Amino acid sequence: MILFKKAAEIRHWLDNQARKEKKIGFVPTMGALHPGHISLIESSRAQNEVTVSSIFVNPTQFNDPKDFEKYPITLEKDIEMLETAGCDVLFLPSVQEMYPQGIKNRMQYELGFLETVFDGQYRPGHFQGVCTVVHRLLEIVLPHNLYLGQKDYQQCMVIKKLTELIGMSEQIKINICTTLREKDGLAMSSRNMRLNTEERKIAPAIYQSMIMLKENLQAANLTKIKENGKSFLAQAGFKVDYFEIADARNLETVDEYDGKQKLVCLVAAFLNEVRLIDNMLLN
Ligand code: AMP
Repeated sequence: MILFKKAAEIRHWLDNQARKEKKIGFVPTMGALHPGHISLIESSRAQNEVTVSSIFVNPTQFNDPKDFEKYPITLEKDIEMLETAGCDVLFLPSVQEMYPQGIKNRMQYELGFLETVFDGQYRPGHFQGVCTVVHRLLEIVLPHNLYLGQKDYQQCMVIKKLTELIGMSEQIKINICTTLREKDGLAMSSRNMRLNTEERKIAPAIYQSMIMLKENLQAANLTKIKENGKSFLAQAGFKVDYFEIADARNLETVDEYDGKQKLVCLVAAFLNEVRLIDNMLLN
């Protein structure tokens, strides 16, 4: 695996690959890698001649400074995992390299409704930060295929919108990969490393709450099953930001289910200091 720290150097290398008409797959990450990330690398390897990954813990997407400070960093292990998975190139930029004009005076992206709900509502500025960094990464890597995890359902929609806003939606195909879970259903996440033994035992309740909801879903008013999900999590020890059912195509909240709409359940909840998110397609 080749490691680049400078945008100009990786771009120069990728220009050579482009001349040879190599298909480029890209997997952006914030590191602290787990098998979920590696599954994205594997998808990219199966469909592209060159797989590029990036590790950058983006300061502007953390609305809570404590969350940023405590974000796990396991660089040596990450490099080993990427190498074992057969990733070809790792881009490891500094903050200066990603924000050559500085962190202030950033471009604002017109994300509209998407930015007003769920993580947009509960983490102000988060998706603007995601867009800033993904925009820069896409312009540096110019991939044919981009690999994202369904684990971050709303983020996938935001990045799709971003590619439209920046005029790259024709050249970049977005591939959304299924969420990898631990045996007990907990969605793999870098933040799981921050859970203590007690919290780790409670954490799969998020998955259980969504399974219960899926099993009880009927064409009817959904208020009661949403409340049941929320109180199940509260009783398990979570502080719930949201436990919602939305239209899977546009994230509009659904209260009356007609039996036909494609639905997604979206959850964000704190276990003490650690915020976990998850989602499940319901039909
Ligand atoms: P992150 O490092 O958390 O920013 O994640 C980098 C990419 O990996 C994003 O596209 C995530 O959606 C994806 N990802 C994170 N967790 C999982 C998982 N459990 N299964 C599949 N993909 C994941």
